[in-house]
Amino acid sequence: APLLVWFRQDLRLADNPALHAAAVTGRPVLPLYILDDGAPGRWAMGGASRWWLHYSLQALADSLARLGAPLVLRKGDPSAILPQMVAESGADIVHWNRCYEPFAIARDEAIKTALKADGLTVRSFNSALLHEPWTVENKAGDPFRVYSPFWRACLAKGEPDTPLPAPEALIPAPGVAGDALSDWALLPHTPDWAAGMRESWVPGEEGARQRLAGFLDESVGRYKAQRDRPDIEATSRLSPHLHFGEIGPRQVWHATSHAMNESGTGPSAQKFLSEVGWREFSHHLLFHNRQLPETPLRAEFGDFPWHDDRPALKAWQRGLTGFPIVDAGMRELWHTGWMHNRVRMIVASFLVKDLLIPWQEGEAWFWDTLVDADLANNSASWQWVAGCGADAAPYFRVFNPVLQGQKFDPNGDYVRKWIPALAELPVDYIHNPWTASEGELRQAGVTLGETYPKPIVDHDVARKRALDAFERIKKAA
Ligand code: FAD
Repeated sequence: APLLVWFRQDLRLADNPALHAAAVTGRPVLPLYILDDGAPGRWAMGGASRWWLHYSLQALADSLARLGAPLVLRKGDPSAILPQMVAESGADIVHWNRCYEPFAIARDEAIKTALKADGLTVRSFNSALLHEPWTVENKAGDPFRVYSPFWRACLAKGEPDTPLPAPEALIPAPGVAGDALSDWALLPHTPDWAAGMRESWVPGEEGARQRLAGFLDESVGRYKAQRDRPDIEATSRLSPHLHFGEIGPRQVWHATSHAMNESGTGPSAQKFLSEVGWREFSHHLLFHNRQLPETPLRAEFGDFPWHDDRPALKAWQRGLTGFPIVDAGMRELWHTGWMHNRVRMIVASFLVKDLLIPWQEGEAWFWDTLVDADLANNSASWQWVAGCGADAAPYFRVFNPVLQGQKFDPNGDYVRKWIPALAELPVDYIHNPWTASEGELRQAGVTLGETYPKPIVDHDVARKRALDAFERIKKAA
């Protein structure tokens, strides 16, 4: 009888334990992907993720077809579709790789129980993490809430498993009907906002492999020194590939270790792996704190006096706050579906501290616009910036967007790239155009309030307002 492999966030052939274990049985394999917008609820995939998914599924379907087993696409509730597919194909075993979103865990447990009750064998595997969240614990046997000891505990577990090879061929299962990818309308049409994404990315397993190889060849040695510079391409940009499972962290780990041994880029490569460790930590936090995407981990933040300021939120979303580094980041996000990590921290701090807008609003905007939107990484990072997370930046540390810009985009190249209206401004004013004289602005072709907005807040006033708000919840706690 055939064996059904349910693909989810593991859209690759290499180091795919569910697929590998299916292939070695020598049975016919039926690969299936289900577009499930029900179980995730408000965390159904956003627009940018859908754009990515389209191309990633296309790439996966092409590779599976080459191996001989075409990918079947279905849309709807997996708890109804899986039994249907089992009945249609005669499969008696179902494999998948685990997901860690609370809704996915609940859904998968229910499906596993139901399929087993029908006499099927169900096996789940780990493709997405170096270590399962329940296998990393502190001396008291509890989950971690602080990153550094968590990552030390991960490292103490030794080398992660060696990646599995991709199957060389698959035996096809008898045909069952599926949808055409184009039926799902994952791509935008009017307006087509994805031009910048098409220029920036190659979704799919091969795109991921090339991205990693390019990074290890060219950038890993300077990662540690330059990873905070948005004007320089020094990070891997693997995040969407990792989110969709086009590459797995074991593959990243082993390829990086290999490169490290060859080229002596030790400390820099270790820094890179420790960032992959933040991804592990976010998943650990989400697994052990189901409320992470919605509710502050520090309870006192439940009473924080947030502002409901729609015009300010809109200005932030569109990159029209009048703070160049913030606006450049928000425009990079809208254009490419990605934003540099340092700039994510700056724009997030600006939203929750300068504008006092709830972090959940920023989280939701990122969810819709990031190609790497990831429930664990996004919610853990927003809680971190907002100061309400487990191992968070203290709330009272308020980023000054001008100083951050001057420090991390020292020549203003990043701002000039994303805000052409400021391109002619001298470096002295690129991060604070309102301090330039009339004459200097005129010479650069800038009219504040017309070609580029005036700042929507006074940072010093906003900072004080944020600290006052924080004092209030501290007193109440
Ligand atoms: P690299 O520096 O090359 O790091 C390699 C990999 O490590 C990344 O691809 C990513 O998987 C992981 N990683 C790196 N930094 C972090 C981090 N701080 N937390 C968790 N994982 C990390 N990352 C997402 O993948 N999805 C999100 O939805 C997301 N939302 C964020 C929201 C905010 C407010 C902030 C401050 C950060 C967010 N991040 C998110 C984390 C981080 O910004 C991105 O993972 C990183 O910028 C991706 O670029 P890269 O692949 O070049 O990273």
